[in-house]
Amino acid sequence: MYCERCCMIFEEDRCPVCGSRNVRPPRPGDLCFLTERETIWAEMLEDVLKQNDIPCLTKNVLGAGLALKVGPMSERIRFYIPYLRLQNAKAIVDELFSAPQEGDENEDQVDRKI
Ligand SMILES: [Zn+2]
Repeated sequence: MYCERCCMIFEEDRCPVCGSRNVRPPRPGDLCFLTERETIWAEMLEDVLKQNDIPCLTKNVLGAGLALKVGPMSERIRFYIPYLRLQNAKAIVDELFSAPQEGDENEDQVDRKI
C-alpha cells in the first residue's frame, strides 16, 4: 500500500511511519521514498539516477536553521522516485552503497580497450 503523506510503500494496511490508515494501492506515478543520504553521496546518487533516466525528487531533511547548527556536512537528502521506477532505483542504490567503499581515487581496474 501507499501513504500519500509519507510517500512510503509497505505491505500493511496501515502506514508504519505515521500510523495513518488512509492508504491506497500505489499508482505508477506515485512518488515513493527511496533512501536518505548525506549530501556528498546524494549528489553522486542523483547523477547515477540521471544516467539511468530515472526521474527523482529530492528534499533536504534538515531545515535551514538546524543545518546551521549542526553544519552542512550533516545535512541529508531524501530521494523520492515514481513507483514505476522504484525497483530500478533500489537496485542502483544497492549497487552503489552495498559494495565496500574503495578509498582509491584512481580507477586501477579500468578495462583498457587496446
Ligand atoms: Zn504515512
